[in-house]
Amino acid sequence: MTVISVEVSPRSYDVLVGPVEAGIERIVDMAGNSAPVLVSEPRVFALHGARVAEALGARPLLVAEGEAAKGWNELHKLLTAFSEHNISRDTPIVACGGGSVGDLVGLAASLFKRGCPVVHIPTTLLSQADSAVGGKTAIDAFGEKNLIGTFHQPALVVADPAFLDTLDERQVQSGYAEIVKYGLIDDPALFAWCEINGRGVLAAHRDLRDQAICSAIRAKARIVAGDVTDRGGRRALLNLGHSFAHAIEAEAGLGNVLHGEAVALGMTLAFRFSSELGLCPAADTDRVAAHLADAGLPVRLAEVGLAGRAKQLVDWIRRDKKNAEGQVALVLSHGIGRAFLDRSVDERRLTAFLVSAA
Ligand code: NAD
Repeated sequence: MTVISVEVSPRSYDVLVGPVEAGIERIVDMAGNSAPVLVSEPRVFALHGARVAEALGARPLLVAEGEAAKGWNELHKLLTAFSEHNISRDTPIVACGGGSVGDLVGLAASLFKRGCPVVHIPTTLLSQADSAVGGKTAIDAFGEKNLIGTFHQPALVVADPAFLDTLDERQVQSGYAEIVKYGLIDDPALFAWCEINGRGVLAAHRDLRDQAICSAIRAKARIVAGDVTDRGGRRALLNLGHSFAHAIEAEAGLGNVLHGEAVALGMTLAFRFSSELGLCPAADTDRVAAHLADAGLPVRLAEVGLAGRAKQLVDWIRRDKKNAEGQVALVLSHGIGRAFLDRSVDERRLTAFLVSAA
């Protein structure tokens, strides 16, 4: 069992990486005399959630599977159930599922009675390595990714890598993109490690997978601790590739391109655009694209059916949360491990780049 502490205000919390049983006791203690609530979705509940709910003595609630969980209806249904069961403000609400369940449940927990403790038990590679840590919650709304959300740090995260044994290849690849991201932001040694060991991680080699998850969590904990509410610019680096990714997900129709796939393509575009602007060595961009393609991830807009949609993509990018004072902000790169936030991107050059970036 590895314990990683996330040092954030107002309260730090632990991420346990190891068998879920180790976390059960902590959640039961947290609940005191009340029964925790466990929120999952049908597939995860059948595979893993029912066992966890039983061990916790928790009341299970199910929401929709995948990105479909992140909508007004599911939020309303969940809050209705919390109200019907008269959940108290100190009852732990346990999110057992991938990032979609985690984002929805985190939001619902942050809203109900002005904030109940949320515990994440992530079950995908993406959610274990990334989304369960950091406290961002969201639903999609009006066709836009993550438009409505809050910051609500979890009380505890329990990531059991054994849950990943039932995940399909495409979902594993999608999660892997977020691990590579941490190397590309500020850790060239991690990216080089990925180049050597990525295939082993994707093939579920236990030690390599666990190492990759822990490296990503440590990196995220470090970056989040420096900028908890994403206002200082440091945390924005976690969005490497994400302005492109959210535009890609929205333009393709939410749920059609997996988040990690869109992030892989988005990171490749961020590197290619940086090279085109003369900011990043072309050799680094080639390395990034080659590694992500080798991992089975998309690196060209044509691969996700979006060649020729430059104008629409720029329209989505204009709506990004990082933008301020009418300027488009993008995380760009000076090279592998050297991401930075450009707060005033030239929109004409961006459009011209996307036109040629089929
Ligand atoms: P997901 O939660 O949408 O789940 C994907 C699929 O995997 C679903 O069909 C689900 O049933 C299945 N699944 C989950 N666990 C399984 C298991 N152990 N075995 C078999 N099948 C399993 O996917 P995700 O990639 O975890 O999450 C994507 C979401 O996370 C996106 O909406 C993205 O925006 C969000 N996200 C949030 C943050 C954050 O900081 N809050 C960070 C990154 C991504």
